[in-house]
Amino acid sequence: MIDLHTHTTCSDGTDTPSALINKALAQGVKIIALTDHDSVAGWAEATAALRADIELALGAEISCLTESGTSVHMLGLLFDGTNAEMLTMLEQTRDDRVPRMVKMIELLNDAGIHVTMQDVEEAMPHGATMGRPHLADALVKRGVISSRDEGFKELLNNESQFYVAHIAPTPETAIAQIRAAGGVAVIAHPFASHRGEILKPEAFSSLVAAGLNGIEVDHRDQNVQERAMLHDIAQELGLVMTGSSDYHGTGKLNRLGEWTTSPEQWEKLEAQADKRRVVRAGNQ
Ligand code: AMP
Ligand code: ZN
Ligand code: FE
Ligand code: FE
Repeated sequence: MIDLHTHTTCSDGTDTPSALINKALAQGVKIIALTDHDSVAGWAEATAALRADIELALGAEISCLTESGTSVHMLGLLFDGTNAEMLTMLEQTRDDRVPRMVKMIELLNDAGIHVTMQDVEEAMPHGATMGRPHLADALVKRGVISSRDEGFKELLNNESQFYVAHIAPTPETAIAQIRAAGGVAVIAHPFASHRGEILKPEAFSSLVAAGLNGIEVDHRDQNVQERAMLHDIAQELGLVMTGSSDYHGTGKLNRLGEWTTSPEQWEKLEAQADKRRVVRAGNQ
């Protein structure tokens, strides 16, 4: 089983990196990618937790904004985690998530919904990338909503009056940076239409020109038609097709390994990194 998209307490997941590795091992996942939002903070712990029978693809899910303001998520896998430009790009996004949260809290307060930055900080594991799920957790604690899911349905989704964007690279910039750091770029859930504005099919050619390697085709937020369209686009553009869980522990319903990537597609993807960077127990 190959699962190329997961989150931990280093962003908005609820399992620590080592707990994630243990869970993956127990469930028979053979290759797992660690892709916290805009962060590589979990890499060392996940690597240290490795044992026989599981391999780790280190990565990050990079929040991007197109020139026209559409939110896009780019999975960067197998890049050099010491690449200074890459680390700076991720840090700029993480830094801007703080004033962005302040603005979202102000909008909620103006509408009579009481929540504070301190609530959000208390809802967030130390060192995590701050995000809307932590705001949702703070609102749950205050009794405003009953779950993250309800929070995203009502107050926190991209179309909501309380939504504020944060600084983020364009998808093309993120792809170029991932490739310059030796990694491979896979666009995450590009047709997850119920989340808000999505990419137009014609947008993919510019991503390919920037160096895109693959498309996340199989993902729970894409219905059967959306997956079929992505399959056709990937085939036409010669891109790798992945499937993955986008596991967040108890932070989302997604189950580890609920969607997977075939060994053939993984081999094709891995071969496009500048060198073999998959981590195994004992080879770090
Ligand atoms: P942010 O990165 O702060 O813009 O928050 C977006 C993140 O919230 C996404 O990347 C998801 O991981 C998470 N998210 C989106 N919808 C939901 C949901 N219904 N339940 C829990 N988490 C969600
Ligand atoms: Zn997330
Ligand atoms: Fe995502
Ligand atoms: Fe994700």
